[in-house]
Amino acid sequence: MIILGGYFPLRKRNRNKPSEDAYKVILNEHIEYYQKLDDGGKARFEKLVKEFLNVTHIEGVGTEITDVDRVMVASGAVIPIFGFPSWKYRNLTNVILYPDTFNHEYQFEGGDRNILGMVGSGYMNGQMLLSRAALVKGFSKSSGAENTAIHEFVHLLDMSDGATDGIPQNLMKHEYTIPWLKMIHHEMQRIEAGHSDINPYAVTNEAEFLAVASEYFFQKPGELKQHHPEIYEQLSRIFGQTPEK
Ligand SMILES: [Zn+2]
Repeated sequence: MIILGGYFPLRKRNRNKPSEDAYKVILNEHIEYYQKLDDGGKARFEKLVKEFLNVTHIEGVGTEITDVDRVMVASGAVIPIFGFPSWKYRNLTNVILYPDTFNHEYQFEGGDRNILGMVGSGYMNGQMLLSRAALVKGFSKSSGAENTAIHEFVHLLDMSDGATDGIPQNLMKHEYTIPWLKMIHHEMQRIEAGHSDINPYAVTNEAEFLAVASEYFFQKPGELKQHHPEIYEQLSRIFGQTPEK
């Protein structure tokens, strides 16, 4: 069992950062979002990835991590804030990768593990935990509308105004709050009735709805726009991006 808080039984820290060329190779090979950018966008994305890795410690617990993992975590951070050039994740210092799913006691062995990612609060403030397997799957061709890293970073954005409530007040104009909540509740009913292709985990609460819908927005923007044009439009306003032109 791993107890976070007092003592971190972490592996020896590897502070070696990938070289600039290594970033590019990894981004080109693994990050579809990056592949679709024009040259100017690619250069800006590379810079943001580098800046994120300079200020965030990424460590493995029970697993050896690679530059590909680091660049994937950084991409999960950069994608949701790519519309806000000066955004900094002030509420994050460490990202801890577990080999696979874990449970609420941060155990990654044994039964009853179903957590893919988590953003810490209280004594865990500033920590993000991610399943390495889920991280890698999110950036693979077979991930569909799901991406655990993006999901957790959207929670951080939502949390940045003091409330993890599905309303990222720092990113959306006040007048859109009520329509957005109505849209969320309407879609939750459709999900519950089996009439929506949005991952049913979204009905957990408004914060999970935002995180799940955002995964869909960044992973499959064309499909989201087609199946849920209003949600697409609202997320496009929130993130200041139009991933599907
Ligand atoms: Zn969540």
